[in-house]
Amino acid sequence: MPNIFWFRRDLRISDHPALNAALSDGPTILVASADLLGSKFSLLSEIRRNSLRASWSSLSKSLNNRLSIVENVNELLKLAKFHGVEKVFASTAYDTNGVKEMNAVAKDLNAIGAELILGPGNYAVAPGSVRKGDGTPYRVYTPFYNEWAKNDFGQSTTAPSLENVLAPVETSFDPQLEFGADIKAGESFAVRTLERFLDGRVDGYQDDRNRADLGGTSHLSHALSHGEIHPRTILERLEPGAGADVFRKEIAWREFYADVLWHNPHTLTGYLDSKYAGMEYNFDEQVFARWCQGETGYPMVDAGMRQLLSDGWMHNRVRMIVASFLIKDLHFEWQHGARWFEENLTDFDPASNSHGWQWTAGCGTDASPYYRVFNPVLQGLKFDPHGDYVRKYIPELRHLQGSSAHEPWNQVSGYSNGYPKQIVDHSEERNESLRRLDALKNS
Ligand code: FAD
Repeated sequence: MPNIFWFRRDLRISDHPALNAALSDGPTILVASADLLGSKFSLLSEIRRNSLRASWSSLSKSLNNRLSIVENVNELLKLAKFHGVEKVFASTAYDTNGVKEMNAVAKDLNAIGAELILGPGNYAVAPGSVRKGDGTPYRVYTPFYNEWAKNDFGQSTTAPSLENVLAPVETSFDPQLEFGADIKAGESFAVRTLERFLDGRVDGYQDDRNRADLGGTSHLSHALSHGEIHPRTILERLEPGAGADVFRKEIAWREFYADVLWHNPHTLTGYLDSKYAGMEYNFDEQVFARWCQGETGYPMVDAGMRQLLSDGWMHNRVRMIVASFLIKDLHFEWQHGARWFEENLTDFDPASNSHGWQWTAGCGTDASPYYRVFNPVLQGLKFDPHGDYVRKYIPELRHLQGSSAHEPWNQVSGYSNGYPKQIVDHSEERNESLRRLDALKNS
């Protein structure tokens, strides 16, 4: 009987213990499922669908074009039944929907006399295993990091022999892989991206990572999110140095949020600090559409939102600025923004996304206090001091020189190319936000 290997967020062949286990057990059909992490493929933005296609395409090439793609787990189960499969191998999932799906598949396989065999997942340290001395989980990053860093992350392993890989099977899903061709993705691209970063930018990472205009970060988030590279492979390549130390801490933020979500699965869409569910919020379709399309009249916010639409990625600092603006200036609940990010980010990661949003909202871990409201103009002047980032993504502001692109309202010709006026007044909305917080505290 053949095995099935079920790919999800582990789209690589090197350093992949779960795949090794399947292929060393016997002949194996390799299957990826299109609906991922509870997101239906057909509902994702085009750029996110294309990024998945590009990742599958690259993976399939490294498997001599032997990857089959199913629509969802129902089709996976049908395949298992049809081919008389007794063992389905996969990597362990730790996110809310991934765990739910994994448990449901294990149960359904049992019902047909087959089993789900799980290998380690895509974390240097498995979520749930870093604990305080008394066995309880961490809710604050720094002590988590100190404990996490004591672990032996292990050694990465090379790609397995493909001798046992069986021919692809027929499925109902047409992946149209050629549409993903514009997006660079895949395992060897991930390794090249890491090497480029280690050859240069890592040395200035501690200073440059917050600058939206410099591109000083690694851009490894897509590869980590799709599992095209294992974090262990990254960590073992880091040499001592100030930039590498800060970078290691960022990799650990990903692990921390995965740990927090694993312990608190409801926080994928619910509040970690539940009292915030009772705060007064707004919702208005038209206002939301202006935020989504980068039409708020605040250049740094709009540049970020347009970067998301055009590149499927946004700089971390700018993610915080746009999130703060939606929550504290427009008074929306964080989940609206998180959903928009889920549809559009090619590096979408359920834990980093939900907890990145909750951190900014002030209702998550280690929270930036609610009263800390980002000033989108000052943030722009600080993290894009020459206005280059804003001009890159907002053509209507390209005629403005230097940092003046952050304040078109101070320029005679600021609005001459159709840039929208500010949707709200930041200082008024900051006060309103603090009023709502006081009301919550006193309720
Ligand atoms: P680098 O600075 O080079 O960092 C290296 C890696 O460390 C990243 O690839 C990422 O895996 C991890 N990392 C860095 N910063 C963070 C962080 N603050 N939290 C968690 N992990 C981090 N990251 C995602 O991968 N997917 C998401 O869906 C996501 N949503 C976010 C939503 C909000 C509101 C915020 C504020 C942050 C979010 N992040 C998310 C975290 C962060 O913005 C991205 O990981 C980072 O911008 C990716 O770029 P990079 O690979 O160049 O990062």
